[in-house]
Amino acid sequence: MTNLTSLTLAEARDGLARKSFTSLELADAHLAAMERARVLNAYVLETPERAREMARQADERIAKGEGGPLNGLPLGVKDLFATEGTRTTACSRILDDFKPPYESTVTSQLFTRDGAVMLGKLNNDEFAMGSSNETSCFGPVVNPWRRQGSDVKLVPGGSSGGSASAVAAGLCLGATATDTGGSIRQPAAFTGTVGLKPTYGRCSRWGIVAFASSLDQAGPITRTVRDAAILMRSMAGHDPRDTTSVDRAVPDYEAAVGKSVKGMKIGLPREYRLEGMPAEIEKLWSQGAEWLKAAGAELVEVSLPHTKYALPAYYIVAPAEASSNLARYDGVRYGARAGGSNIVEMYENTRAKGFGAEVRRRIMIGTYVLSAGYYDAYYLRAQKVRTLIKKDFEDCYDAGVDAILTPATPSAAFGIGQKVGGNPIEMYLNDIFTVTANMAGLPGIAVPAGKDSQGLPLGLQLIGRPFDEETLISLGEVIELAAGRFTPEVWW
Ligand code: GLN
Repeated sequence: MTNLTSLTLAEARDGLARKSFTSLELADAHLAAMERARVLNAYVLETPERAREMARQADERIAKGEGGPLNGLPLGVKDLFATEGTRTTACSRILDDFKPPYESTVTSQLFTRDGAVMLGKLNNDEFAMGSSNETSCFGPVVNPWRRQGSDVKLVPGGSSGGSASAVAAGLCLGATATDTGGSIRQPAAFTGTVGLKPTYGRCSRWGIVAFASSLDQAGPITRTVRDAAILMRSMAGHDPRDTTSVDRAVPDYEAAVGKSVKGMKIGLPREYRLEGMPAEIEKLWSQGAEWLKAAGAELVEVSLPHTKYALPAYYIVAPAEASSNLARYDGVRYGARAGGSNIVEMYENTRAKGFGAEVRRRIMIGTYVLSAGYYDAYYLRAQKVRTLIKKDFEDCYDAGVDAILTPATPSAAFGIGQKVGGNPIEMYLNDIFTVTANMAGLPGIAVPAGKDSQGLPLGLQLIGRPFDEETLISLGEVIELAAGRFTPEVWW
């Protein structure tokens, strides 16, 4: 009997089509695996009844020869996506027991339109602020990977830590995630999974809890590049309810899998060769370049001179937008309310109790950089830097570069508790290779490419031209084929 939880999304799709198993069997196998893996804390809400009901309906569609492209395939959903009637919290106490009366566009495309089955809601950093999934009000997520010969619990990365951990541990066939500064790609790299952040505007943001609206994008975390392509097709698309979503046909991303990369020009940015970068990361990067070269691509050194300003500028723009987006949580419209003798006191008490420390820090930074007198010095300046970062990439692409290859993260997964509570800058530095793509609105993919000396997975990142996710998929698969698949040993 096939182990239904170790199938790829593509294999499960084909198995359902061949009637090797039913959607209900697939859902049950995953629900059982979720129960056994509660120690990972990947799910903050399991929805077994709903999953079985959706699976039964999918099986009925199969019997009638009907069903969309994801019919009957069980997925997990980051708790940032509003799911109608099902608790959605952004892993913040302030949302409490909030049950949205609406469904996000992305999840409605996955489940209502394309027939997938929802297993539950996945843990994330509170309001997606973090790089380790330790700021969640539901507690940290545990990475299914451990160092060789060690039982130290490691972080799965963040903010989509629940999505990455669940996909790596076989607790869903694929998951939705969001990426504002690296939250799809960094956790994918920490867990040996594939994370695809599409171009800004490719997916609708409608119904996704907003963090920094000019940077947020939804995308998939999966076990293979092909699976990322399959989910991407269902998640992408124009939505009149999100004015920043782009009206452009959604390609068949899966067709890009296996396409030749011969003659493609791949840029290696000089500025990503950081001082003090671990030798293993440097080696991984060269290895990746070699693999692409062996597949017929041409490697060229490129310069992205404003890279060093990306992280500081991001940590102005993102908190600024967050402080404005989070103003809506006032104890009146959503979730939790704390008492007070007048309305102002009620607001203050609700927000002081409802938000965690990192979220409060972001609100304070954001409010400061937007305040009169400082707006020009900080926010406006950061926006100008952003334009320069974007132009760096445009210059590369204008010179004929098809994609840019970089490490995905500056290290492998670290220990739970190792970086939280200390100097926040240390945590922010995790995003050093990923924030540039968000600042420039470009697509990026993280693909597992090797292991460190302690046996932990490491990822490489490819950044592409706007709306050219397909090239990233073709190149990503070359790395995947060379590096092989990464599966953690089950210890839970
Ligand atoms: N780690 C980054 C931050 O905390 C990015 C998070 C994200 O992409 N949502 O802002």
